[in-house]
Amino acid sequence: MNRLYKLRLGVLVSLLCPLFLEAGNKGEKLDRAEWGFPMHRSINRKACESLPEPLKTFYMVHQSYLEMHSTDADSRRYAAADEACRHFIDADHYDQALPLDSLPLFLDSALARFGDSFVYAHGIVPYQCLIHTRKLQWAFEHQNMEAILRYSADLGHYAADANVPLHTHSNYNGQFTNQWGIHALWETELPFYYLDTLESMLTQGSVVYDIPAYMHQRVEKAHQLASQTLEAERVARKSVPVPAQFAFVWQGKTRKKMASWTFAQTYGQRVLASIIEQYTTSVNTVSSLWFTAWVMAGEPLLPSDHQGHDWPFPIQQESWDHE
Ligand SMILES: [Zn+2]
Repeated sequence: MNRLYKLRLGVLVSLLCPLFLEAGNKGEKLDRAEWGFPMHRSINRKACESLPEPLKTFYMVHQSYLEMHSTDADSRRYAAADEACRHFIDADHYDQALPLDSLPLFLDSALARFGDSFVYAHGIVPYQCLIHTRKLQWAFEHQNMEAILRYSADLGHYAADANVPLHTHSNYNGQFTNQWGIHALWETELPFYYLDTLESMLTQGSVVYDIPAYMHQRVEKAHQLASQTLEAERVARKSVPVPAQFAFVWQGKTRKKMASWTFAQTYGQRVLASIIEQYTTSVNTVSSLWFTAWVMAGEPLLPSDHQGHDWPFPIQQESWDHE
């Protein structure tokens, strides 16, 4: 599985790096000179705005921190061997078809039924969302500002990953169907072209009374879209001549190939609605789990002894693991 983890990592690392567009290879929609706002950052930022009060006011103060640290969980993959499995679940290894009846609601149940090696090899993202919601609850109970922000940033990342169709399927980058690159196409390149549309969507988080069932529903919904995501790409490839399918961008000092605006429009005709839906659902999931952790903690007063986003928290520190 190490090879597969590295492939997943390679895709996700691309989310972190600003893309600079090469002059002369851009369509009308590529006039914006910098990407620089990966989807995890966008989702954490929008989740702050989607919280009920009084949590919204508190989180808005720290919105920049939560946006900036939304990808720490991906960064930790380099240093922590047990990190990668937290970002996905190969639901097709539990059930060949929907509904996901064989996918347990709880990690303990999954481990008891399928064994450690199977469960961790095929990912635990829905379970990690529960684990991190509990950690965030602990942080609120202890009014520990550093832990609140760190757990919120990471929970936002895991909750967003759980809503991405190709994070719920073993064919996560089209490697089994010769559709390499579809992962970045769906979650990075299409959202780049339609970022304004995505961020115009409104939603509001609410209390989740049964987190395991809720996350199971989120994963099932995302998994339901995986086949459509793959099939639509096959159709779109046949519709657009190969030279017109790609544009070139600068990623740092490296010239990269990505979907052209023409191809993005063609593929987008088939999947844009689901991207918008999953983006909005991701924002809602993040804000709902943040809010639920606070409610489970007894709706404590929110700590205010540290303000703003410039408190220099260490990114890799894991000293707040209490479970
Ligand atoms: Zn991730």
